[in-house]
Amino acid sequence: MIQKIYKFGGASVKDAEAVRNLADIVSQHKDEDILLVVSAMGKTTNMLEKVLADFREHDGNLGMKALHEVIAYHDGIIDGLFGEETNPDFAETIANLFIELWEKLQKTDVPYDYQYDQTVSYGELISTTIIQEYLNKRDIPARWLDARKYVITDDTFRAANPDWDETRLKISKLNDEHIRGLVCLTQGFIGGTEDGKHSTTLGREGSDFTAAIFANCLDAEEVTIWKDVDGLLNADPKRFADTVQLPHIPYSEAIELAFYGATVIHPKTIKPLQNKNITLKVQSFLNPDHEPTIINGEHRKDDEGIPSYIIKDNQTLVSITPRDFSFMNVHNLQVIFGVCDELHIHANMIQTSALMLSFCFDGDRQKLNLLRAELQDAFRVRYNEGLQLFTVRHYREDSGKDFLKGRKILVQQESRSTMQYVIS
Ligand code: ASP
Ligand code: MG
Repeated sequence: MIQKIYKFGGASVKDAEAVRNLADIVSQHKDEDILLVVSAMGKTTNMLEKVLADFREHDGNLGMKALHEVIAYHDGIIDGLFGEETNPDFAETIANLFIELWEKLQKTDVPYDYQYDQTVSYGELISTTIIQEYLNKRDIPARWLDARKYVITDDTFRAANPDWDETRLKISKLNDEHIRGLVCLTQGFIGGTEDGKHSTTLGREGSDFTAAIFANCLDAEEVTIWKDVDGLLNADPKRFADTVQLPHIPYSEAIELAFYGATVIHPKTIKPLQNKNITLKVQSFLNPDHEPTIINGEHRKDDEGIPSYIIKDNQTLVSITPRDFSFMNVHNLQVIFGVCDELHIHANMIQTSALMLSFCFDGDRQKLNLLRAELQDAFRVRYNEGLQLFTVRHYREDSGKDFLKGRKILVQQESRSTMQYVIS
């Protein structure tokens, strides 16, 4: 039985040194029946997005130039890992993957989302092929699995939804075939349609979700997300000084944090784990002896002891009032949220008063215009763009004071556990 899922994101495989470090970590745990879920190397997904845009919007020459940068980046890593001893068969496999990718990039007469998934998925395929070769070199034999044959999805390209029954059927076979101690290795982020003909992707940063899907279908014990920070911190260290690590949080808190905009864990990751009571660890690949953050179903005494600070950028705040001066009653709310639902507008913070509904959502000019057009007969819609939503969980008396200094607060909301500000 596969017991543990290790997810390694792009930063953990961004260069040869990082891949060596991954192998060090895996070699210490290789007898523990692990499955590795690995992302594309470094910023490859961003690079491939640019390659694709160049192929579609400009002439092929620009696209080729951008593709050559991706090839050179991977060649650098391969060289750093194997040097003179690069196995020719392996070199050919990598070359073939790039040729396949190039062929798929040429076919621009298909919808963007479709071509995106057929091409950008190569980031993960190439990354895991390199890692398998390197693990072999380090005497850690690994079984390479094509995630497109296991994570079966619908054909919502770029935001594919797993078909859980099919996926479970495929993935659970891995436990029957499993050889004790053999490391399995697969790609995050990517899936495939049931007919086996098309690649799909689960949405940016989707590899955490992949790890959770495999864990759920394998009834695994735990998932570890290996990060470049010491576990889950109470704020983004790039934006706040003096961050501290959260030692433990329950699943529900992880969902709250992700909902408010914490980007450490992909929001879809928790549910499949919670449903099977699988522990999630967030651990540092730079400092693997450091205690990880534990996320599970327990509620511990100190869980609420540390305030967490979360910023969501690029928010649009809309304020809606009925033109006929009627109350902002349940009927009006139903009409407005009905339109939001149709337009896939997800409200990050909502506030109502007698005559007004205010909410903010991830800035999207097109959706904003559609919303205004739909509501304008019955409602007056005002809006502000380019705002931030600042959330403090488990706030104390002076939480967030420093951050709010000199900022204009447009909306403020407080519950027992959460304080939120929409600020400009
Ligand atoms: N490689 C994908 C991305 O950069 C998926 C992931 O890393 O989770 O979004
Ligand atoms: Mg990530």
